Amino acid sequence: MPNFYFSGHSDKNGCHTVHVESCVYFLLNYYSFKIGSFYSFEDAITSAKIAFPRFNFSQCRWCSINYFF
Ligand SMILES: [Zn+2]
Repeated sequence: MPNFYFSGHSDKNGCHTVHVESCVYFLLNYYSFKIGSFYSFEDAITSAKIAFPRFNFSQCRWCSINYFF
């Protein structure tokens, strides 16, 4: 199971992008939040929404397609 993170910065649509740890477009920094390890993006986003109910989340377009679970 990969570790999932989301960016602390929201995009222009107000969404926080969720990535797997190894994504080339993910930059681990002070603003990144670790969600935990999950089997799917769906599970990671569900968990993130519970922890941060006021945030909106979106899947990274790169790692949601290129990461094989
Ligand atoms: Zn990504």
